Amino acid sequence: MERASARIDYDAVRANCARLKVELGEAELCAVVKADGYGHGADACVAAALDGGATRLAVATASEAEQVGRRFQHVPLLTMGALTEEEVDAAISAGSELALWREDFRRLLADRSRAHGRPGRVHVKYDSGMGRLGNSDPDEVMALVRACAEDPDLELAGIWTHFATADELDSDYFEEQLGRFERLAAAVKEQHPGVLVHAANSAAVLRDRRAHFGMARCGVAIYGLDPFQRDPAEQDLRPALTLSSHVADVKRFPAGASAGYGRKWKAPVDTWVGVIPVGYGDGVRRALTNNADVLVHGRRHPLVGTVSMDNITIDLGPETEVEPGDEAVLIGRQGDEQILAEEVAHRLDTINYEVTCAISPRVPRRPA
Ligand SMILES: *Cc1c(COP(=O)(O)O)cnc(C)c1O
Repeated sequence: MERASARIDYDAVRANCARLKVELGEAELCAVVKADGYGHGADACVAAALDGGATRLAVATASEAEQVGRRFQHVPLLTMGALTEEEVDAAISAGSELALWREDFRRLLADRSRAHGRPGRVHVKYDSGMGRLGNSDPDEVMALVRACAEDPDLELAGIWTHFATADELDSDYFEEQLGRFERLAAAVKEQHPGVLVHAANSAAVLRDRRAHFGMARCGVAIYGLDPFQRDPAEQDLRPALTLSSHVADVKRFPAGASAGYGRKWKAPVDTWVGVIPVGYGDGVRRALTNNADVLVHGRRHPLVGTVSMDNITIDLGPETEVEPGDEAVLIGRQGDEQILAEEVAHRLDTINYEVTCAISPRVPRRPA
């Protein structure tokens, strides 16, 4: 028995990738494993994703590229984020392909690639409306594309963009971005037929075939999380993560007795309270105070009182068969009942991505 652990169903990751790959047809699946695989553990998820049909990998940072690149040298890897000069060297050493959208950065990449003794493979990023990384001027993007193609120290590998509202099904803005990118990508393809065109994240893949192009960058869906924040089963996705702990103590609370810091909950009647040794130090957010359910014996029990760093308390009711040592599930399935990361996200007024990313390094990741 462990204090708390995240059990990862790698077979679900494999199946989710296979499901996305069917959707994508000829287009490649790039598994996005940044932030330690959205909190699921990057290395084992990469192996499962490759098994499920992913042929490329993407991360956000140079240190993630080093970690993933070292273990999976044969798989093309893209570092998507903005990099400092030092980070450029680390990412190149890791064998990663790089994102660029500025002429000064293009020259830096050329210089550093020459120093490393092999042309740097680069993906030119068009900001079609995300308003974040990328160059929003199509003419400047075309000039960058040309400069990359002509530079002996660089290899033009890709042209790409990112959607701001792919997960908002009623948004016209997605169409607008797609239209802008289609026009630019067609112009690039005409001159560089071999270039890899990519735009879609998980939501875009599930929403619109026209966004698939040559490759899709899927993160959230490969972990069985729904990009639209509904039940992943609606998209035939299988949640991969179970966050569990155990009941460390069961205590009798007379009516009026309080649980935790600040006495934020008082027993309305005589009841039993279970103490579970997991808290915000593990990524169980404090905003779940009096605002979550926990599964024990396949039944929901309300989290009562303040979430502290290392403990939470749940109300087991006036009669209970729960005993110390029984498993407690905070995210995942137990018996016929399940608590989705999407449910926890709704309670916190956030998205499932943040819920799984928040699970801290103190929680060991184990195969399910
Ligand atoms: C994180 C990220 C993705 C993956 O998005 P999901 O919604 O998790 O599929 C794709 N592209 C970029 C640029 C990203 O930063």
